[in-house]
Amino acid sequence: MNKTTVKSPMLAALAAATLISGCGKSDSGAVRMITEATFPPYEFREGTEVVGIDVEICKAIAAELGKPLAVEDVEFDSVLPSLIAGKAELAAAGITVNEDRKKMVDFSDPYVETGIVLISAKSVAYKGGDDIKGKRIGVQNGTTSADYVVEKLQQEPERFDSPASAFAALKAGKIDLVIADVDPAENLIKGEPDYAITSEPRFLTSECYAIAIKKGQPELLATINKVIAELKESGKLDAIFAEFKAKADALVDAD
Ligand code: GLN
Repeated sequence: MNKTTVKSPMLAALAAATLISGCGKSDSGAVRMITEATFPPYEFREGTEVVGIDVEICKAIAAELGKPLAVEDVEFDSVLPSLIAGKAELAAAGITVNEDRKKMVDFSDPYVETGIVLISAKSVAYKGGDDIKGKRIGVQNGTTSADYVVEKLQQEPERFDSPASAFAALKAGKIDLVIADVDPAENLIKGEPDYAITSEPRFLTSECYAIAIKKGQPELLATINKVIAELKESGKLDAIFAEFKAKADALVDAD
């Protein structure tokens, strides 16, 4: 709606200059969040709208910056490249903080501690040790679950565009197990009596999620950390988690 059609090089230069001079906190327009919306309860679609825990956190950050939030949904392995290319100010997609990613982007303080788990048929109940070596393991492309299979198990996973499509392949007998983050994994097995989180111990890794931004923006990072701290201290973050876990469950129940 706010897009201006630029008809001449002169106007284009003027428009660019306006954008550049408008880069401070007072510029109009939305704060753009880039995500991948197949990851309940952090981001998922309710009708056409992308909702979830990450969306609420980013809305609070945008509000602190005095702007509305615009959400863009891309494949998970495009989230950080798109952020780096300047397509958004915030990347929030249940993104695990790790050393490789820290070389590319800056991370906020973490807002949750979590980890990856294994889903298999209850009849086989793979634990995640030697019993899964050489098995066909489904993961979402570009994730820490994919890294885990390559680095720890030293084999190639079967890559899917979402945890749900990996789970569908498991149910179709095309793969033997799925490795995914615990919250979307719990969501997937809800209402599926033949499948469970069977890893033992339950977590294959210990991970933290944080918001990613393009490197070299200490002010923005400080603002984000302030918002996260306030959400934690006020109890609002717990309320957001409870609300969207319930909403994600309700969507499964409605299927
Ligand atoms: N936490 C995992 C990662 O960062 C998976 C995130 C996701 O699929 N949205 O790689």
